[in-house]
Amino acid sequence: MDAALLSRLRNALPPEAWLDGAALAARCSDWNGKEPVHAPLLLRPADTSQVALVLKACHEARQPVVVHGGLTGLVHGADTTPADLVLSLERMRGIESIDPVQRVAVVEAGVTLQQLQEAADAQGLAFPLDLGARGSATLGGNASTNAGGNRVLRYGMTRDMVLGLEAVLADGTVLPAMNRLIKNNSGYDIKHMFIGTEGTLGVITRLVLRLREKPARQDVAFVAVPSFDALSGLLKHMERTLGGSLSAFEAMWPEFYELVTTPPARGRAPVPRGHPFYVLVEAMGGDSPGDAERFTSTLEAAADAGLVADAAIARSQAEVAAMWALRDDVLQVRRFGWPFAFDVSLPIAAMPAYVETVRDALTRQFPQALVWIFGHLGDGNLHVLVSSDGMPADARTAMERIVYEPLQAIGGAISAEHGIGLEKKRWLGISRNDGELALMRRLKQALDPRGILNPGRVV
Ligand code: ZN
Repeated sequence: MDAALLSRLRNALPPEAWLDGAALAARCSDWNGKEPVHAPLLLRPADTSQVALVLKACHEARQPVVVHGGLTGLVHGADTTPADLVLSLERMRGIESIDPVQRVAVVEAGVTLQQLQEAADAQGLAFPLDLGARGSATLGGNASTNAGGNRVLRYGMTRDMVLGLEAVLADGTVLPAMNRLIKNNSGYDIKHMFIGTEGTLGVITRLVLRLREKPARQDVAFVAVPSFDALSGLLKHMERTLGGSLSAFEAMWPEFYELVTTPPARGRAPVPRGHPFYVLVEAMGGDSPGDAERFTSTLEAAADAGLVADAAIARSQAEVAAMWALRDDVLQVRRFGWPFAFDVSLPIAAMPAYVETVRDALTRQFPQALVWIFGHLGDGNLHVLVSSDGMPADARTAMERIVYEPLQAIGGAISAEHGIGLEKKRWLGISRNDGELALMRRLKQALDPRGILNPGRVV
């Protein structure tokens, strides 16, 4: 790394912002501890002005910068090389304000998702983004990757919860765009340049986030379903009859259900095994009289219509938690090696044929493979996991081809919610056409002409 840049940064930043040597070598750049930090220096600015100072210096020295949030990403977006400098927002953890009337929170980018969920809850409000990594994932990371999660069906993705933000551009320019209004059509909505662009166009430092009233009531059921047609029929039925309160529709193919309900997994099966599909359904509402009865009668009507083979309705908070724990117990797959993981989006009607095609191709090429499929069916988002025990070292590329290529013809996406990072970049052409890719490159060139921000990611 350039000596003049190092001494400039050393002089400008306080010592607690600086991490190198053994302290840095002990760190990883992913949550599973498999990817060491290869960069020689990590900087932890305390505020926006320090972020700006770091980027200005790096821009002038043409120093590549990799941005770190909570390190819970799944597409190698935070990997580093010895040529990189890491910029971590981990010390920018302030919740600046929560306005219960406007229902708006102003936070620094390093605040964790759970921190904000709890702060909102304490004021009778909710920040409805939710995902398994809530304890470490940061809001800056959630926004820059446009995280999805379990309740997109009801509340949208992170993009739909960001009202405004502040970002620092590659050259150190601070861009305040801290809109607090739900409706603001005054020209270009600049925040979207930084949401879902994975830190390639600027570094998000602060956010204005939309809060909701805390739902007073949560009804959850675990349902066995006789066919895929019944599964998609049940989704429509629940949406239609629950009057907009359906908040999750988490489908599981039988291999996944068996995995998370069979020891050593600790989950107990809420409905008998042996059905073609399972789904966790959840409704959230204001606890008006009749909410619970309506949830039950909706499921009864579905059963009468042949959409439900069996169902268990949670009768306590403990049962609600136990049902969600089955859905969240994804790490059971590690018993069969660290899995090959895929996150795809496609039209619901195309799912049965797609799953059959992918499963057939995977088991033909890798006869020992175990395949688990589950996902946010209401969002058209499937997660495909494949066991890695006994797989050849180069299996990943062949599997990517099998999983991604059929998506092109059916208008699917190679990433529903995990993003592109370094991992999926070579497949981006399946989901984006040449015109879209060219415009992405023009934006990158315009905002980061020296290519220092998260180099090699996305485009
Ligand atoms: Zn997911």
